[in-house]
Amino acid sequence: MKFYKDHYDVIVIGGALAGLSSALMLADKGKDVLVLERHNLPGGIATSFVRGGIEIEAALHEMMSIGPEGNRLKVGKFLEDMGIHIDWLKVPEAYHASLPGLEVTLHPGFETFAREIDAEVPGSYDKVMKVLSLCHTVFDSVNELSIHPMSKVQMLLKHEAFVKTAGYSTQEVLDTFGLPQKVLDLLAPYWIYVGSGFKDLPFTIFSVLMADYIGYGSYIPRKFSHEMSLKMAERAEELGVQIEYRQQVEKILAKDGKVYGVRTARGDEIYADYVISAAYPNKVYTSMIEPISEVPEKALKMVNGRRLSLTAFSVIMILDKTAEELGIKDYSIFIGDTMDTDELYQDLAGLGPYRYLTCICHNLGNEEATPPGTCSFSITTLPRADGWKTVSADDYDRVKHEVAKQMIGDMSRYLGVDLLDHILEIVIETPMTVAHYTGMWNGCIYGYAHTMEDHIVARLQTAEAEKFFEGLEFAGAHQISGDGMGPAVTNGRKAAKNVLDDMKKKEAAK
Ligand SMILES: Cc1cc2nc3c(=O)[nH]c(=O)nc-3n(C[C@H](O)[C@H](O)[C@H](O)COP(=O)(O)OP(=O)(O)OC[C@H]3O[C@@H](n4cnc5c(N)ncnc54)[C@H](O)[C@@H]3O)c2cc1C
Repeated sequence: MKFYKDHYDVIVIGGALAGLSSALMLADKGKDVLVLERHNLPGGIATSFVRGGIEIEAALHEMMSIGPEGNRLKVGKFLEDMGIHIDWLKVPEAYHASLPGLEVTLHPGFETFAREIDAEVPGSYDKVMKVLSLCHTVFDSVNELSIHPMSKVQMLLKHEAFVKTAGYSTQEVLDTFGLPQKVLDLLAPYWIYVGSGFKDLPFTIFSVLMADYIGYGSYIPRKFSHEMSLKMAERAEELGVQIEYRQQVEKILAKDGKVYGVRTARGDEIYADYVISAAYPNKVYTSMIEPISEVPEKALKMVNGRRLSLTAFSVIMILDKTAEELGIKDYSIFIGDTMDTDELYQDLAGLGPYRYLTCICHNLGNEEATPPGTCSFSITTLPRADGWKTVSADDYDRVKHEVAKQMIGDMSRYLGVDLLDHILEIVIETPMTVAHYTGMWNGCIYGYAHTMEDHIVARLQTAEAEKFFEGLEFAGAHQISGDGMGPAVTNGRKAAKNVLDDMKKKEAAK
């Protein structure tokens, strides 16, 4: 019996959130789909691992685009529509900001958030509400445009606020509101989740971030991010998707500008009309397309022209006391010695000391996250790959431990507890871990940076011109909706939609 069918409608490379979302949507429409995943389990970064008998979340701090039961946002709704029911827990607060002159905990919901900022900076309520309301209008537009691109004229008619602010940086738009510095600081902590300083961060991206997280709050699955991956993979198989693990795709086969299949590391050649790739375009166009002579020069120019965004350095600890005993009061803490996001962004190019950290205590969002009497605490920064690429193999272990010690030291001083005295288990994830585990280009978890030169509107306009191969789509943080687990799902859906649209077009032309 043959292991693979003679032909599939679609082969998806990578069984993580983006790839599984593509597979689900295609299978739901009756397409014959094969997912090839190099690991022995689904999920990519959306996974967990076990140390000392304790399951530990590998990455997720908080998910966007889920929304409350009965009013789900696009990702929550898509999963439910696909018959996937996740046990969502709402994260109790937006964040605690520990910044120069500020120790403030803010909660989601525009009015609550604005009221809490007003308590810190009296008289700021109306202006903060205006900012948030603008963010929400832009957010609605982005949601529609990410699935249904339209002409510039249509955009201007239907999405005026989006078009008007699209050419401006977050700094430029926020400056027009005349906000006091403290308010600006309190609006800024999430910047790290999108990875550009405010002078270079398109306001569109800031809007999406704020409207989604602050407007609706964030969520985590009770059984960690792996609950999502496992349930998505299970459901995809129920819908008829063939998922094969431990199958690394080495080559995407192409002829005359059209892809027609893949070759795995095991040597299987498998054929399909379409290939959806989780691997970065950088990797696909430099080493995966076979023959490489098929790759047009403009594809290489495109990937060389894009700036890679951030990767991750995370110290994940299981501690021998409860959060309460250790004085950890908030699920999410953003801590920095400045809130000048552009200055902080520059620092991320180095190897530390990192001046802006984001910490999560899972037990404060999910009291069953670790066994009774313990808690999990992670300290994360999101460096650029640049600095880490200079670390030699011989120095790697030393540098990794130095950086981790700095971060643990900073948080120990903040909490007034020496965390080193309380560690039951510790795992240090570096940009190299991410690159090694997921195969992501340079370990970048955030795809290409959203900058003023290369922003979402420009990318919407160039999407067609950047299709260098017929039948080839991409699904991952490197695509239009950008980084994060929620956007990964949206990116996966978009890739599937492109395939379905193309199939329809070809059917109609017959
Ligand atoms: C420490 C950390 C914290 C994070 N925190 C958050 C957070 O709080 N909220 C949030 O939304 N996001 C967070 N993220 C980012 C988020 O995890 C990712 O953006 C998202 O999971 C990416 O999903 P993906 O499907 O695009 O790709 P990935 O998860 O990178 O998966 C790619 C998959 O493709 C497979 N693959 C690649 N190449 C091949 C090949 N050639 N053949 C076969 N298989 C292949 C890989 O094995 C992998 O399974 C965090 C990431 C890290 C590292």
